[in-house]
Amino acid sequence: MMWVLGLTGGIGSGKTTVSDLFSGHGITVVDADVIARHILDQGTPALAAVTERYGKQALTDDGSLNRGWLREKIFAEPEEKDWLNQLTHPLIRSQLLEELEAAASPYVILSAPLLVENNLTRLCDRVLVVDVSEETQRQRTLARDKVSSDQIEQILAAQASRNERLAAADDVINNEGTLSELAPQVKALHQDYLGRAQLKRA
Ligand code: ATP
Repeated sequence: MMWVLGLTGGIGSGKTTVSDLFSGHGITVVDADVIARHILDQGTPALAAVTERYGKQALTDDGSLNRGWLREKIFAEPEEKDWLNQLTHPLIRSQLLEELEAAASPYVILSAPLLVENNLTRLCDRVLVVDVSEETQRQRTLARDKVSSDQIEQILAAQASRNERLAAADDVINNEGTLSELAPQVKALHQDYLGRAQLKRA
């Protein structure tokens, strides 16, 4: 098995910014959010199971998933959320494993906002947390997205707390500073990870 770095951080903490810097060093990044989104794409077994359970109301006119409808459904009915998670989580996990195994870089990054919450740390040799204060999370997310303050508060409440995340960390990047302060931190960690990955291969 490849040497896997788990990369996580709360909403707006800078995960994507950091993973782009690792990509710049030639490291493959597997993004759990991207996989989760595609697991219910048109033509997938998971979408067939959703359609079987809810009928055509779960689909848009072009036959793809009506994501807004499903979001409301599982928000209103927790048991449906459980059902959906039981359907999708094993599929997401096996797709993740497949992509981690297929990576051709010296080590591979598993980037997941809910790495800690969803127990994906089990797949990782080491965990790197991008850390900022909640205030900075709010400011940067508001500046970037068209989401409301209310939505940001909901997401913050649903994610692990800063301390819970830090408790799972082997390494921490503090991203309170400027963007230019990130690159040297990433470079130093990358050197360390190359050594660790080589030890695992040996
Ligand atoms: P999400 O989980 O919400 O997708 P993320 O953790 O991937 O977020 P990014 O998208 O990397 O976070 O960063 C959030 C926003 O903050 C982006 O607009 C990014 O350009 C900006 N940002 C990241 N780091 C810094 C920094 N050190 N200084 C200023 N802006 C930053």
